Formats: sequence, structure tokens, C-alpha cells
Amino acid sequence: MNEVIKDMERYAEANNVPIIEKDSIKFIRKYIKLNDVKKILELGTAIGYSAVMMASVKDDVEVTTIERDDKRYREAVKNVNACGMDKRIEIVFNDALDVNLAGHKYDLIFIDAAKGQYIKFFEKFENYLNPGGVIITDNLKFHGLVNNKEKIESRNVLGLVNKIEKYIEYLKERDDFVTRFYDIGDGLSVSFRANDEKVKNID
Ligand code: SAH
Ligand code: MG
Repeated sequence: MNEVIKDMERYAEANNVPIIEKDSIKFIRKYIKLNDVKKILELGTAIGYSAVMMASVKDDVEVTTIERDDKRYREAVKNVNACGMDKRIEIVFNDALDVNLAGHKYDLIFIDAAKGQYIKFFEKFENYLNPGGVIITDNLKFHGLVNNKEKIESRNVLGLVNKIEKYIEYLKERDDFVTRFYDIGDGLSVSFRANDEKVKNID
């Protein structure tokens, strides 16, 4: 399994697949351990790296992860099988906004798919949150470009960065959720329902 993880890191590097940063996955793994997380939903599998890293925290973790890119989906299936994790990681090949998960609830929802659609993802998937559950969002700094817009040369990138800034504002304005922002990796947030009494072990 450690070999497969190293292979995934090398593949991601060689093929420009944006897998999670080391400090960020360390933070999430610790959260899973301290808060007895069992059911995880991930938006954006890529090649399965973060899914495997989350599922391997402890034996009772189950991950459902969604990927819309055919090549990455197939690579993820291969990697999850190679880790012997196919019983605990279900990979769904679809657009996250088209998936129906009726009847399922999750302790942790990890948003790591198209950065321009974060508000849509949040509004769809908050309905799948278990009591006591959290939504963790990755890449809120977008490679350091959020709050450094003068460095941006491409219109597309500027559009995405503006959307991430809108998402951050949106999270701050959602009074029914508490969101904490972390300057870890490429920027993370942890959101949970404000009326949720359960104490969270976050940092
Ligand atoms: N979580 C992965 C990295 C994900 S990269 C890791 O850390 O290892 C983001 C992925 O989200 C890309 O592979 C992209 O194809 C996928 N994606 C983007 N928008 C999506 C959507 N609407 N539905 C499903 N997958 C999406
Ligand atoms: Mg990411």
C-alpha cells in the first residue's frame, strides 16, 4: 500500500494531477481519527490519492468519492484496487451535481472538485450531512492567488479566483453554519452546523 501511495504521488507529479498537499491531508486524517468519522463523501477523486489516505486512517472508514473525468476515474479504480481498498472506497463516475445519494448521510464531506462550483456543491451536499458532521473545502488559496490577484495573467484563472473569494464570503455569511479557515496547504475550511452541540476536535 505504501508503494501504491508513492506511485500515485509520482503519477500526479508527472501528469499534473492536483492532489492534496501533505499538510492538508495530515490535518484531515487527524480530524477523522479524533472525531470518529466513519462515512466520508468526497467530490473530486482525481486518481484516488486523498480517498485512499482518508480510508486508511482506520478500518471502519468508508469513502464514497465522485469523479467525472474518465481517465482519472479509471486510474483511481486501478489504485484503489491495488491498495486492496475496493470494499471501503466506492468510486462514482459522474458529475457530482448529477449524483443522487438519497438515503445516505456522511460525517465528513470533502469538497475538492471544480473550484468555480463550490457554492453549488455546498448547497447540494449540506443536505447529506449527518448530525455532528463537517464540510471540509480544499484550495481556498488557489495556489496562493486568492488575495494576490495582481499576479494573475489569465482571465480564466481570475474568474476562478473571484469565485473562490465569493465562496469564502458566502461561508462567512451563512449564519446557520460556523466555518473556520485554516492557512494549511492550499487553504482549507471546516464548516459545521451552528446549532450542532457536539464538540469538534479540530486543531
Ligand atoms: N481529491 C483529489 C484531487 C481532486 S482534483 C486528491 O486530493 O487526491 C479535482 C478533481 O475533481 C479533478 O479530477 C476533476 O476532474 C474533478 N471534478 C471537477 N468537477 C467535478 C464535478 N462537477 N463532478 C465530479 N468531479 C469533478
Ligand atoms: Mg485540492
